[in-house]
Amino acid sequence: MNRSIIQLECTVCKERNYSTTKNKRTMTDKLVLSKYCKRCRKHTDHKETK
Ligand SMILES: [Zn+2]
Repeated sequence: MNRSIIQLECTVCKERNYSTTKNKRTMTDKLVLSKYCKRCRKHTDHKETK
C-alpha cells in the first residue's frame, strides 16, 4: 500500500484546505498546487503536510 493521504496547506495562512492522496512511489517530490483558499479569498500555493 503506497498511496497515502496527505493534506494541502495554504503557504500564506497555513490553513489546511484540501486533502488528497498520492502514490509515494511515483510522486517523490513535494506536492505544491495552486488552490483557492477561502481564508485568503484568493488562489495561493498549497503544499503538502505530514
Ligand atoms: Zn490561505
